[in-house]
Amino acid sequence: MRNPGSVSPEQPAEIGEHLPIRYVEIEIRVAEPTLMAEGIVLLRLPLPFALNHINTYLLDEGDGWTLIDCGVDCDAARQAWDAALASPLLGGRPVRRILVTHHHPDHIGLAGWLSRRFDAPMSITAGEHAVAGRYSDPTRDVVSERMAFWREHGLPGDLISWLLQRMPRYSKHVQPLPDNVAFVNLPEPVLLGKRSWRPIIGRGHSPEHLSLYDATTDILISGDQILP
Ligand SMILES: [Zn+2]
Repeated sequence: MRNPGSVSPEQPAEIGEHLPIRYVEIEIRVAEPTLMAEGIVLLRLPLPFALNHINTYLLDEGDGWTLIDCGVDCDAARQAWDAALASPLLGGRPVRRILVTHHHPDHIGLAGWLSRRFDAPMSITAGEHAVAGRYSDPTRDVVSERMAFWREHGLPGDLISWLLQRMPRYSKHVQPLPDNVAFVNLPEPVLLGKRSWRPIIGRGHSPEHLSLYDATTDILISGDQILP
């Protein structure tokens, strides 16, 4: 999330100019919910990969929370959610809605677990949901499909074996997807946490990655579309 804070009087932003980037200098610890802006809490979750954490966000809806991204399905992440939701900052209020930026396991992994637990719908773009559904489909052998695709495009057998050994299995890190799904209605604004967010679709990191931009306060929740 980018938040430039206030602009100094010496450097007024003119219409059409980009505001200077400022970084929020708050210490962030894994599994400790941290207030980042009015009504926006960051929860950094642990990951059992080389990339060892993911930032998720909770938007204050008054009577509960909207989650943006969920973490991968692992014991440490579940425990972090349990502790965070019971923490004084989150006040024990329930999850009302879940929004997932894209289909990768560290973002959608616990969406099903949280959705069923709180009877909360999951919002996602149709393109990301289609990919998540394909990878989660127990009747399909996605690994074999991928091997055939690679072979067809000339990848040598030893390189295919090397890649497969290092490729995590999707269903190992992703709970069964929620049945309660509300697709993001592009390009209409997304109303969450008492803010109107402009949906921004990014390609490349994933097929239809959703970022959210609140022009009023110049806050961008970028998922994995912008990585450090
Ligand atoms: Zn990703």
